[in-house]
Parts: sequence; C-alpha cells; structure tokens
Amino acid sequence: MTTELSPDAPALDGLLEQARKDYDALAGRGLSLDLTRGKPAPEQLDLAEDLLSLPGGRHTAADGTDVRNYGGLQGLPELREIFAELLQVPAGQLLALGNSSLELMHDCLVHALLGVLPGAESRWADQERIAFLCPVPGYDRHFGLCERFGIDMIPVPMTAEGPDMDEVERLVAEDPAVKGIWCVPKYSNPDGVVYSDETVARLAAMPTAAPDFRIFWDNAYAAHHLTDEPAEIADLLAACAAAGHEDRTFVFGSTSKITAAGAGVAFFGSSPANIKWLLANNQKRSIGPDKVNQLRHVMFLKDADGVRAHMERQRALLQPKFETVARILESELGGTGLATWTSPKGGYFVTLTVPDGCAKEVVRRAAAAGIVLTPAGATHPHGDDPRDAVIRVAPSYPRPEELAEAIKGLTTCVRLVGYEQRAA
Ligand code: PLP
Repeated sequence: MTTELSPDAPALDGLLEQARKDYDALAGRGLSLDLTRGKPAPEQLDLAEDLLSLPGGRHTAADGTDVRNYGGLQGLPELREIFAELLQVPAGQLLALGNSSLELMHDCLVHALLGVLPGAESRWADQERIAFLCPVPGYDRHFGLCERFGIDMIPVPMTAEGPDMDEVERLVAEDPAVKGIWCVPKYSNPDGVVYSDETVARLAAMPTAAPDFRIFWDNAYAAHHLTDEPAEIADLLAACAAAGHEDRTFVFGSTSKITAAGAGVAFFGSSPANIKWLLANNQKRSIGPDKVNQLRHVMFLKDADGVRAHMERQRALLQPKFETVARILESELGGTGLATWTSPKGGYFVTLTVPDGCAKEVVRRAAAAGIVLTPAGATHPHGDDPRDAVIRVAPSYPRPEELAEAIKGLTTCVRLVGYEQRAA
C-alpha cells in the first residue's frame, strides 16, 4: 500500500517540524470527533424507519400463530426462511431468537461451561483448562467473553485468506484444552478478510484433540458488501457435515447492521444435535423470543432479495465513507513508509498499521487533539498488541465532513509519532 522511504537526516528534520506544526494546528481547533465503534449512522437507521410502524395491527404469523403470545422457541419460520440463504444454514437448522448475536455467543459459552455439549465428555467448567484460538487482529468483544469466563486465548495470525491454518491445525491437533476458535468469515472485524474456500475446507476437515471442539462462525457481515462484487464464502456447515464433523459449527448472525442495531433479530444455525441442545437450554431461559419484532422484520424485508436490496441502500451511504478514508490515507500517508491500511470490500472497518511501537502513542495524541479512536490493542486478546502497531478505524458513524476531518487529523498524528520515532 505504501512504499518504504527512509528520509536522510535533514529531510527527516523538515518532515518532523512540519508534522509538529500540523499537530499544533490540529490540537488548537478544539475538535470533538469519535471513530471508536462500528455503529450505523442515523441515516442508515432511517432506512429501516418503516419498521417502527410495523406490524401495524397485524398479529398473526404465516401459520396463524398469534405473535403477541408466548411460545415459538425456534422463531418465526418465514423469517428463518429469509435468512437461511444469507447465512448458509437450512431453515430447519436455523433459529431466530433475540436482539443480539453476541448474547447468543455468550449463552453458548455459558451452556457449554455449565452443561454437556453434544460430543463432550464433561462440562467445560469441570475441565482444568479451556482455550480458544483467537485470530488476530480480531473482535474485542469475542476476547471479552473469553476473559469473562476464564477461557485462555491463543492468538493466531490472520492471513489474506483467514487464520493461518497451519497454526490452527497444529494447535487443535495437539491440545485437547483447545475447545474453540472465533471466526468472522466474511469481511472480518477489523481486517475485512474473506475466508478462502481452502480455509473453510481445512477448518471443516482438521482433526481436533477435543471431541467437543466448536467453530464460533460469527457471520456478522454476511450481507454487508461495499462493492459490486459481493464476496461469497464456502458453506462451512455443509463442509463439516461432509467431513464427518457435523456438530463442529455454531453459526451466528443478526440484523443489527441491516435494520436496527440492538433492536434487530439474531440467528443461530447448527447441526440438528446442537439445535436440540440450544433449544433445551433456551427452554429454561425463556418462554419464547420476541415474535412481534420478528414479524415486523418479515413484513419489512420480505425475502432474501429484499435484504439484498436494503443492503444496497446501506452501501450507498457507507461506500463513500470508506472511499473518503482510502483517499485521505493515500494522499497524506502514501509513500511515507509510515503506514499500511486495508481496503475492505465489505464490513465496517479499516485497519491501519503503523510502525511497531507507535499505535498507542498515535491514539493518545489523537485523543489529546479531540479525535477518539478505538484503544490501540483492542484488536488483540487482553488488549495487548505485542507489536503495538494496529489501529482500528470505524468510518460508519461520523457525518462525511466529520469523518474527513477525523481521518486527516489521524494522519497528522501518524506522521508526528512516526517521524518522532525515526528521529529518536
Ligand atoms: N460480531 C461482530 C464481528 C461484530 O462486529 C459485532 C458488532 O460490532 C457483533 C457481532 C455484534 O452483533 P449483535 O448486535 O448481533 O450482538
């Protein structure tokens, strides 16, 4: 993305002096800008405004169920039909549940700790040590769940095709304490990586020392394309079944970044045995999901094509923001040798990689100038990026002009910190 350039000493003095001047000017502007979380902007949420007036007096599902009443633990069949195709899970093996997929991931961990998973010899809580593979950089809330439950995290480097599969295969084969791996297979958070067919095939086929190993397949960005060429990933659930590892995969997804964040519908897909297991656990926990919300989603989205059309409207708002980020990073940092960055074809994030040892300081200087970024290190287990090099940029929420200002300011901080390090 950038070419390495090593300025000689006088040139470096000039570059550093200019960066200092630019930073002082930036700090003097009293900005208050926020690039922290991957939240939809209000205009994106407005696209689903009609949801708020649905179901508009209707209260029966297609099969005549009164959605206002208890029951229907699996969720409305017509909504499961819509998302079966998008999440690559047969509708009969897909549950439509609450408002958050993260909550489902949490629950699956709790149920595996406190109950016995299909294929498990005992509860995870009864085992001396439990570990999960964590492709890095990754999603901080996945790591937060592991921390919460005392699950060891083993970082595995990401490649352009997904996690380093040689590493993954080695670790799962040799250690029965390794019970799971976090995967965001399409437009990963934060790198935007799309898992290759080979990665999916190897995940499905690899021998694991733990008989109850699970892939937490968090397909949060299944329909969240930013180009005319929507990424396709191979069907992991089918590949696992074909490889004789039918119970290996938990598929998660939600409409949080399709309709309303935190007020959408979350999905769980898996093998028949795992579905039975989760339903049995859910039966103790709930008398049924919010079917009124599910019905309004059916009426609003209509079918899988309806979801795709809606996501095109989302893209019209998001794509220009990602283009703004790419344009400013290139014009301000291109050729400096101070940074590389991703050009995702979907999802919600851009990863900016700065020289080793600089990420925390860039984030600190940006905050001091009124630009709040996700804490450096958040993309790694325990918030610890050993290289201190990765910064996650979330372009979705700010208004376009604020975004441009924030990214420009960020590049000033990268130049300042990068040249300071070179001069030291
Ligand atoms: N998974 C990933 C990879 C995410 O990036 C996010 C939100 O940023 C979530 C899950 C949260 O999803 P939900 O709103 O369905 O809990």
